[in-house]
Amino acid sequence: MAEFIPVNEPLLNGNEKQYLNECIDTGWISSEGPFVKKFEAEFAKVVGRKHAITVSNGSVALDAAVVALDIQAGDEIILPTFTIISCGAAIVRPGGIPVVVDCDPITWNMDVTQIEEKITPKTKAIMVIHIYGLPVDMTPILEIADKYGLKVIEDAAEMHGQTYKGQPCGSFGDISTFSFYPNKHITTGEGGMIVTDDDSLAEKCRSLRNLCFQPQRRFIHEELGWNFRFTNLQAAVGLAQLERLREFVQRKRKMGAIYTEALSKIPQLELPPVKTDYADNIYWVYGMVLKDDVSFDATEAMQRLKEQKIGTRPFFWGMHEQPVFHKMGLLKDVSCPIAERLSRRGFYIPSGLALTEEQMNQVIVAVKSLF
Ligand SMILES: *Cc1c(COP(=O)(O)O)cnc(C)c1O
Repeated sequence: MAEFIPVNEPLLNGNEKQYLNECIDTGWISSEGPFVKKFEAEFAKVVGRKHAITVSNGSVALDAAVVALDIQAGDEIILPTFTIISCGAAIVRPGGIPVVVDCDPITWNMDVTQIEEKITPKTKAIMVIHIYGLPVDMTPILEIADKYGLKVIEDAAEMHGQTYKGQPCGSFGDISTFSFYPNKHITTGEGGMIVTDDDSLAEKCRSLRNLCFQPQRRFIHEELGWNFRFTNLQAAVGLAQLERLREFVQRKRKMGAIYTEALSKIPQLELPPVKTDYADNIYWVYGMVLKDDVSFDATEAMQRLKEQKIGTRPFFWGMHEQPVFHKMGLLKDVSCPIAERLSRRGFYIPSGLALTEEQMNQVIVAVKSLF
């Protein structure tokens, strides 16, 4: 009997072990260790930014980014509804108001044509989130931000190594963030990064990450921060992973091509586009959506795949459908029909970097058997 195929397994067979051993041998395991600065410098170079600031994960990277931009109670931030809770939470915690737009049905990214109509005198920022492997169409967003004097927060958690019109994702926001969770293209177990070209935003984020200790008088605080520090152990793994980013993206694209080749013959499925006018898909995950004439939904499809030992995950559940926000009186009576459909009919199949072709073939057979 074949073994269960998990939805994700990372690839850790580069210099990870060697660098981790260096941490142990030198005794440097805390956030003060030398790999942290090295990883930040290398990461900044890859994304083409002046500053890169490691943090504990991609969710808190967003928390710090929103606070660094001085979002206050009542300030509105426009974001796609179809995203992870981290994005909505980062806005709501300091009292910001999330204002959502629906998705583009083909790329699953935010529908940029809906942004301008949502702008009010209270709008302070647009939070752009690149979803599942294709970047958001940035040019119109940057134009709108410029026209209305809005800040751009760019969540590039799923976009390591991706570009938009040839420029690295993560280089577009006033402040941009990444995650190194094990299902991202590069991982540090848990971890995140904030990048920016703005010196004062960078300083603010470094301070927020470290409890807002002041250099002059360590235990006297003008502001409240968090302990979002990243360890030398994480940075050691991150540096080894970053060395292979190009190879990892190629590997993901090859996996995407194999899946697309096999699954595009199934008429009941909507698959991710191989490319758009401005980018080739990097398949952070390989998602699919059941067409409307399919009699079952994603929950049932995932259950049936599980019975065949195939791991899956459902698509995001829109921010406007989150009970937690409704209880706070937020995003009630909002309708985003495209996102609602994706949440119910979409799921993704195993697409981690350690997946073998043999496993992919097993997945393909199982998906075909659904119909
Ligand atoms: C993974 C992810 C996050 C959260 O990152 P964590 O490191 O898991 O906290 C945030 N935004 C997006 C778009 C993500 O995919």
